[in-house]
Amino acid sequence: MNNVKAYAATSAKSPLAPTTIPRRDPAGTDVRIEILFCGICHSDLHSVRNEWSEFAETQYPIVPGHEIVGRVTGIGSGVKKFKEGDTVGVGCLVDSDGMCGECKAGLEQFCPERILTYNSPDRHLGGVTLGGYSDSIVVDERFVLRIPENLDLAHTAPLLCAGITTFSPLRHWNVTAGKKVGVVGLGGLGHMCVKLAHAFGAHVVVFSTSPEKKEDAMRLGADEVVISRDANEMQKHLGTFNFILDTVSAKHDINAYLGLLARDGNITLVGAPPEAMGVAAFALIGGRHSLSGSAIGGIAETQEMLDFCGAHNITADVEVIPIQKVNEAYDRMLHGDVKYRFTIDMASLKE
Ligand code: NAP
Ligand code: ZN
Repeated sequence: MNNVKAYAATSAKSPLAPTTIPRRDPAGTDVRIEILFCGICHSDLHSVRNEWSEFAETQYPIVPGHEIVGRVTGIGSGVKKFKEGDTVGVGCLVDSDGMCGECKAGLEQFCPERILTYNSPDRHLGGVTLGGYSDSIVVDERFVLRIPENLDLAHTAPLLCAGITTFSPLRHWNVTAGKKVGVVGLGGLGHMCVKLAHAFGAHVVVFSTSPEKKEDAMRLGADEVVISRDANEMQKHLGTFNFILDTVSAKHDINAYLGLLARDGNITLVGAPPEAMGVAAFALIGGRHSLSGSAIGGIAETQEMLDFCGAHNITADVEVIPIQKVNEAYDRMLHGDVKYRFTIDMASLKE
């Protein structure tokens, strides 16, 4: 076992602060990864502040972080896919039973035994898993991804969650050229969705509460931007969308978007506000509309997403910060003041 540096929160009201945590030695099919960059997902903030207590109670101390890129510094004797020095990534998943129908279908995120990168039972060391705001991590090679060589690492880290969480539903709902696609909320997930849907050839409309993001949205690949608080602008799009991805992190009115769907159109929620949101029956019935959800993506699909991003030179727009600024970054993210993802330069943890 090794003790490594990390940042943890000890309660829902505590800031993240320096600490040390144990990591197991790589055995069998384990890969040890020195973490170079880790993105800050809004899920990290929900978890640190225990906002999802009803569904997934946070165990303290928590070390968040599931948008990890780094370098392999050690391998177990059974590792086949990686060698020391490889550039790799880890997302939200670090284990699953590997045998159930979900795992066999490549949908490890739905495995009843899946282990998340943080705040899941740690079968090796006891306690809970501890995430990427740390020097290093040890992960079974089945859950380690290859990073395309041409991509900048600081900009690539957010693909491991924001990238796959938007790629997977866009693929599932067949977003292709000729489809009209809405993206609700231009944050970390939203800006990746704009880039990916644009690359898939769709007509992309961003719905934002922030008028100052309009120019950025167009630069990122949107064809149109609607300020969602403007009822007139919303009205113009009634009944026209094939698909809408809702990435909003707080409670909001989804009926306003259901009304914008064309016949058989779908809205998928990836945003995970803690509070329930009411749905009007008539907003669904009229046009045979559907409302669904989606959780990250499986490992094979995550690799497919990374390879797609490599081939199309797609990465996140990031603001790189030292870990000492992580608490400030959380507050800025909560106020929508991030363009469009914070990535922690983990070299700062060594200082
Ligand atoms: P983020 O960067 O903070 O972006 C959220 C965006 O939502 C904001 O930029 C803002 O966009 C909009 N927004 C925020 N509060 C709002 C409000 N009260 N009303 C309307 N719009 C509001 O967060 P993120 O990292 O993209 O994550 C978004 C959500 O997805 C979080 O709940 C997160 O936990 C969840 N998530 C889910 C999965 C999954 O697997 N399903 C994976 C990762 C994250 P505008 O300024 O453009 O309005
Ligand atoms: Zn995430």
